[in-house]
Amino acid sequence: MANEPTGRIHSIESMGLVDGPGIRAVVFFQGCSLRCRFCHNPDTWACQDTGCETTTPTALVERLSRYKAYFSRSGGGVTFSGGEPLLQPDFLLACLKACHRAGIHTCLDTAGVGLPEQDYQPILAETDLVLYDVKHWDPERYRALTGRDIAETQRFSDALRRSGTPVWVRHVVVPGHTDDEASMKALQAYLAEHLPRPERVELLPYHLLGKNKYTAMGLPDPLPGVPAMDKARCAALQEAFFPL
Ligand code: SF4
Repeated sequence: MANEPTGRIHSIESMGLVDGPGIRAVVFFQGCSLRCRFCHNPDTWACQDTGCETTTPTALVERLSRYKAYFSRSGGGVTFSGGEPLLQPDFLLACLKACHRAGIHTCLDTAGVGLPEQDYQPILAETDLVLYDVKHWDPERYRALTGRDIAETQRFSDALRRSGTPVWVRHVVVPGHTDDEASMKALQAYLAEHLPRPERVELLPYHLLGKNKYTAMGLPDPLPGVPAMDKARCAALQEAFFPL
């Protein structure tokens, strides 16, 4: 198609089961402006990575349409993740529209930090479900954890609340940092103020699977000495504070 925006893609997972409902193709966008200390995908950070794939919405959605039978049988679809999809807004919007023209359900997995002054409404209007990653509730600890100002993601959550788009909140639980009851209550209070009606809140246990990427990229360990989150403890917090 003429005059299509192009986008930078890190990779595609064709049969994802954890990023939204049903069986999903997960498209990982290249580029992120946050530096979350628990990030397991530091290889998606660089916004100008010459090694990544460049594609168009038409070509991408044609490729994803091969899995449509799996999507429709399982109630799944496509999830745009990253990196941060909001940093490529024109490409993302065109992909969302192309999915809808093809009858494919769309999820946006985001930390809610796009470009300055970005209008999120057109993207939210084409998104069937937002997986919104809430990193922290305290402004100072949010900055220490991500390197950014919490006001940026709150601008997105304001837009999300106004849009009425269904939301699943996701929050990574880190041992020794956010795995206690006081943290869970603080998260509840933060959501009550900023995003009062998520369909669900998923607690995700911090894991160590990305550590080797930091080593390979010559980066220091961002959370030295912090073990993986105990899955049973995380499940108990889920049950006690955010039952599914
Ligand atoms: S927003 Fe996601 S991709 Fe970006 S640094 Fe945080 S965890 Fe990593």
